Amino acid sequence: MKVMKVDAVVAGAGIWGCTVARRLAEAGRHVLVLEKRPVVGGNVRCEVDAETGIEVHTYGSHIFHTHIPAVWDFVNRFVTFNGYQHKVLTNYKGRIYHLPLGLTLINKFFDVELKPGEVKGFLEVKGRSEKLFDAFFRGYTCKQWGKSPEEIDPSIIKRVPVRSNYDTNYFTDTNQGIPLSGYNSLFDRMLDHPNIVVRCSAALRFEDGALKCGGDELPSVPVYYSGPIDALFDYRFGHLPWRTLNFEMEKLNVCDYQGTSVVNYAEAEVPYTRIHEFKHYHPEDAAVMNAPHTVIMREYPAAWKPGDEPYYPIDTAESRSLLDRYREELAKVNKSMKSGNGVRIVCGGRLGGYRYNDMDKSVEAALKVEL
Ligand code: UDP
Repeated sequence: MKVMKVDAVVAGAGIWGCTVARRLAEAGRHVLVLEKRPVVGGNVRCEVDAETGIEVHTYGSHIFHTHIPAVWDFVNRFVTFNGYQHKVLTNYKGRIYHLPLGLTLINKFFDVELKPGEVKGFLEVKGRSEKLFDAFFRGYTCKQWGKSPEEIDPSIIKRVPVRSNYDTNYFTDTNQGIPLSGYNSLFDRMLDHPNIVVRCSAALRFEDGALKCGGDELPSVPVYYSGPIDALFDYRFGHLPWRTLNFEMEKLNVCDYQGTSVVNYAEAEVPYTRIHEFKHYHPEDAAVMNAPHTVIMREYPAAWKPGDEPYYPIDTAESRSLLDRYREELAKVNKSMKSGNGVRIVCGGRLGGYRYNDMDKSVEAALKVEL
């Protein structure tokens, strides 16, 4: 390790950790960033396919979208976004519809030509909204969560907007896009600061009351941790539950496979939930767009077991109370350890906070962390 003065440790170099590291560095602290994986970027990490030049979102599609000015200003200090506007199509019984639930989808599904003011009344007729919901949400949700829609927190399905107009933008945020220079450059640039040293393939552990990495005990400084909170305590109360995803990537010798970046598959009988086709995230890149090949990825949600990649936290009364126990444990540890400013370990991000967060919410939370 490069010998340096360390004022703070950031463990986990996803979007939350990198934002915190950058803020610490700009506040004059010397920051050691530890990342368990061999590369930084967390699940936003991409791989540029050497053969086709296509930026593959290794952990599934990530579209940056936000209505929070401070978040947009922050990320735009490092990269310029291409203005990509996300649309999601969905395949139900072989026909393609535009999500979200709006006039385009409803009119096609029921073979009608409703006007905006007619949608509400039309869907109030018994059986119609149920038919719509069963077609587009029931099967997909069962595949995604391994549970029926009635068993999951309603806030999850409410992520998909319902509209009575022809707007087929998936997100309602004022700002969205994909970094022109690629997602990895966002992380590389955030961490490119004289006060930051990054160490990859370096996991943090909490052992005998001390924080360690490899054979080294960490200096007694504040730690900003975005690994799984239960892993920090060696799962002493049990594992927090997750849904995992498996991806199947395929390179095809066609210019355009599906004509758009994401097509969902609504029916329970189709084993995957969606197909991503990554070249569509860079419509500005004519060479990639026009090349006679493409990369697609099928996404298969699955039950999670220890050792699998954690993707979506499962919000139940049981998981909330387990999370509370780990948070209490963290509070105890913070009380027992001495440090200059009274903060010893701050947990955050998707894994550390056990949160189903969009990227902007992680950045927003990181911008608010008390340094
Ligand atoms: N959903 C659905 N059908 C769809 C898209 C979404 O049933 O075609 C439900 C599903 O339960 C999903 C939730 O809405 O988990 C949120 O969807 P979103 O697209 O926000 O999921 P993400 O991209 O975060 O996985």
